[in-house]
Amino acid sequence: MIAFLPQEYEEFRSKVRKFCENVLEKNAMRWDEEEEFPYDSLKAMAEEGILGLGIPEEYGGAGTNRLKLVIAIEEVARVDPNSAFIMEVESLFDATILLFGSEEQKKILKDVAQGKKIGTFALTEPTGGTDVAGIKSIAKKENDRYLLYGSKYFITNALVASYFVVFAKTAPELKGKGITAFLVEKGTENFRVGPKIHLTGFRGSAIAGLQYNGAPVKKENIIGKENEGIKVAMTVLERGRVNISALALGMLQRVYEESVKFANFRKSMENPIVNYQFIQNYLTDMLTDLEASRLMVYNTAMLIDRNMQVGMNAASTKLFVSEALMRHVKNGVEIMGGYGYTRGTVMERLARDAHNTTLSLGTSEAMRLVLSRYLRMQ
Ligand SMILES: Cc1cc2nc3c(=O)[nH]c(=O)nc-3n(C[C@H](O)[C@H](O)[C@H](O)COP(=O)(O)OP(=O)(O)OC[C@H]3O[C@@H](n4cnc5c(N)ncnc54)[C@H](O)[C@@H]3O)c2cc1C
Repeated sequence: MIAFLPQEYEEFRSKVRKFCENVLEKNAMRWDEEEEFPYDSLKAMAEEGILGLGIPEEYGGAGTNRLKLVIAIEEVARVDPNSAFIMEVESLFDATILLFGSEEQKKILKDVAQGKKIGTFALTEPTGGTDVAGIKSIAKKENDRYLLYGSKYFITNALVASYFVVFAKTAPELKGKGITAFLVEKGTENFRVGPKIHLTGFRGSAIAGLQYNGAPVKKENIIGKENEGIKVAMTVLERGRVNISALALGMLQRVYEESVKFANFRKSMENPIVNYQFIQNYLTDMLTDLEASRLMVYNTAMLIDRNMQVGMNAASTKLFVSEALMRHVKNGVEIMGGYGYTRGTVMERLARDAHNTTLSLGTSEAMRLVLSRYLRMQ
């Protein structure tokens, strides 16, 4: 129980949980097994009002705050991490347009909120994701437009997207200070999407690379200001880290539930294994980290809702929750013995999915790098 969470939020959680258990649960394993993008999930989430939660009502969304958004991501992730990841990456796109986009650009959010169109956030390149200032993509100015040259990799939702936020250098000599964010539409000349990347987990993800060789983009499609793309990327990523932490939190909740259920039902030497102290240690540590993770995620979300600086909180939350998930999913597999290592069990899927949470939106090393900046006294 969370002392600072008003009743309204618990009611919201119950509503989302009911939807996830009734609508998503029955398909989640199949989407993973068949590597199928969950269009049905997206449609159902849009109808239920779970998509576009963070988009204000004036732009066609539900206009909820960050705390409700993270509760929704947590609940969806508990049942279908891949659908939650789609929401999470979509929210990076939404935040880019909402925080830095023009009024004209914000008009596209209505279709996004209704699940009719999908947007992506394309920063990582084949040569690296951690070194943002080192991206190789360039945008050459030609009269009142830019021509984009380069490529991206690991772009979630790319295969199904209508809109792409693409970061490229407009002033390569300025390194990180010469990056600009562009809004690129599907079908733009010389802009290619694919092929699909086959991941270890999150197998229903429509993740792919992008290649552009002279793709024309109008100057009106700059998001924010020219050469201020690094500010756009860092602001959006920093706040987005609480969303991926919520995803890890929902998965950790499921790891705990599956582990407790199995430990109570499985007998060894005539006793349910939950009676053995080795197993109890795994479960009590899971429960403790689960409680701590939830407090960190909700606190960071509330700081965002109060428009406060969250660099330190977002990085430490992501580091703690994603690494807790990695530790405990390993123990969850141990508790379930051979069943935890068998395809078709939720634990096996969670074990494959978990590692994405320490990688996306910055690796654990990158989080420690961010946090190390808070150690210096001047
Ligand atoms: C499932 C999935 C979905 C993704 N979706 C998207 C997306 O939608 N959009 C997008 O733009 N990107 C996306 N990414 C990319 C993700 O953000 C990158 O994988 C991540 O930032 C790491 O970049 P990299 O894989 O290129 O590793 P690298 O940056 O090459 O790093 C390799 C290793 O070196 C370490 N390292 C690098 N630099 C340092 C340093 N200075 N100090 C210490 N250690 C360092 C890293 O921590 C890592 O361990 C996705 C990735 C995955 C796995």
